Amino acid sequence: MNHEDILKAAGLTGGELSGGTLAVHSPIDGAEIARIRETDPSDMPAIIAKAQDAFKAWRQMPAPRRGELVRLLGEELRAAKAELGAVVTLEAGKITSEGLGEVQEMIDICDFAVGLSRQIYGLTIASERPGHRMMETWHPMGPCAVITAFNFPVAVWSWNTALALVCGDPVIWKPSEKTPLTAMASMKIMERALKRFGDAPEGLVQLVIGGPAIGEALVNSKDVPIVSATGSTRMGSIVGPKVAGRFGKPILELGGNNAMIVAPSADIDMAVRAIVFSAVGTAGQRCTTLRRLIAHNSIKDDLVAKLTKAYASLPVGDPRKSTTLVGPLIDHASRDRMQAALEKAKAEGGTVHGGKVVAEGVPQGGAYVEPAIAEMPKQTDTVRTETFAPILYVMGYDTLEEAIAIQNDVPQGLSSCIFTLNMREAEAFLSAAGSDCGIANVNIGPSGAEIGGAFGGEKETGGGRESGSDAWKGYMRRQTNTINYSAQLPLAQGVKFDF
Ligand code: NAD
Repeated sequence: MNHEDILKAAGLTGGELSGGTLAVHSPIDGAEIARIRETDPSDMPAIIAKAQDAFKAWRQMPAPRRGELVRLLGEELRAAKAELGAVVTLEAGKITSEGLGEVQEMIDICDFAVGLSRQIYGLTIASERPGHRMMETWHPMGPCAVITAFNFPVAVWSWNTALALVCGDPVIWKPSEKTPLTAMASMKIMERALKRFGDAPEGLVQLVIGGPAIGEALVNSKDVPIVSATGSTRMGSIVGPKVAGRFGKPILELGGNNAMIVAPSADIDMAVRAIVFSAVGTAGQRCTTLRRLIAHNSIKDDLVAKLTKAYASLPVGDPRKSTTLVGPLIDHASRDRMQAALEKAKAEGGTVHGGKVVAEGVPQGGAYVEPAIAEMPKQTDTVRTETFAPILYVMGYDTLEEAIAIQNDVPQGLSSCIFTLNMREAEAFLSAAGSDCGIANVNIGPSGAEIGGAFGGEKETGGGRESGSDAWKGYMRRQTNTINYSAQLPLAQGVKFDF
């Protein structure tokens, strides 16, 4: 299918795809596929006011009824999976199965949120006073801004939106300026769910298009109590303090620099499979991509030999082809940053395997690269920096203590893992003195999380949690209630105040 047909099948009309100021390019061949209208910054106050109005109605709707909207969204997503997945491939360059996988993730979080809509509960707490009861109630907070990155152009919106909606919060979505079409296509699906639902307030889920200036209007507004922002640490370092400065609630999901420790006892063949998928999948453009391999010195050379052999057989090319495993990088600037990082790694004493620009057998105009392995003498500044491309830095270690110290000695704290068959090592890695990341795995790679767990990371990754477990609490306010059903008025801590 050509790009016009893909966009049409996703419900986007010619009028919506032309006549604007924001040029959208496909990373497959760099071609301009649309020129869309951007939101006028002067419209932002009215958009935020509309969300506030929607909030007043939505917060009164019982949570299980709010869940019904999310159930319908899940149904509509199931019906549109192929069409939306194809737009993800066209606009973000993901291989076909990963484009579809991203939509599956949206469906999964809808299922989770529907169940959650009947499980929003607080504690009851023993009161120290006779005839008193204490409890916690969770209430909706208000409009939630969702600012998303190019590399998960639809899933991250759904993680936030499915939870925010059942929690009683309207959503204003500002997608990456590199991937607005997937957002527009997702809104078509949302609109179908809203129509079937019937009585959702107008402005419950809105989409705004543009770059950082549009994002900042949300970040700076006191009428947007929650700002969930996914992207680079640089972006988070601007957004986080601004939201905190006005006492808003930030949910920050920022850069990662994820590692795997491979111990002498590891199942090496399994480790190789996990390494290749986590380091190379999505062309190294996942926040959870494996970027650092910390291998025991007794097995390191053997592991690198197996990896370089596996890397040599990876099909790089058009992400629409069923045989391709490595699609394009998002743009040429990203390719140039990868090449510059490899040069720096060499200057720091690294030995680089692969990593070359691929020009043959791929669509012209796209940024295609061979994934790279860089054997490093130690953890240098380049290794500590997240370069959003398929570069795997390899370092050696002798003791587990040393390996954990290397794993933790980076500014980011998103995902991590250990391959070992030694129970003491696995438990030490997961202990308080082990990995300092938000995600720590044993015998699986650091990428490809399921929606059932809370997702997010520590340190410069921002501390936010989204998706499963009790991440929903980030979208609500907690109220502590004390109820006196006695005829006395005893004060806490035995204080006397008789008059
Ligand atoms: P980016 O930081 O360039 O942009 C992300 C979003 O932030 C975009 O929508 C952008 O317009 C917006 N933005 C930028 N500056 C802003 C500002 N000052 N105010 C408000 N909004 C602003 O990131 P990217 O290149 O699109 O994505 C790649 C990065 O995202 C990587 O660092 C990756 O690790 C990270 N990421 C993290 C997670 C996670 O869950 N931790 C998930 C996906 C991506």
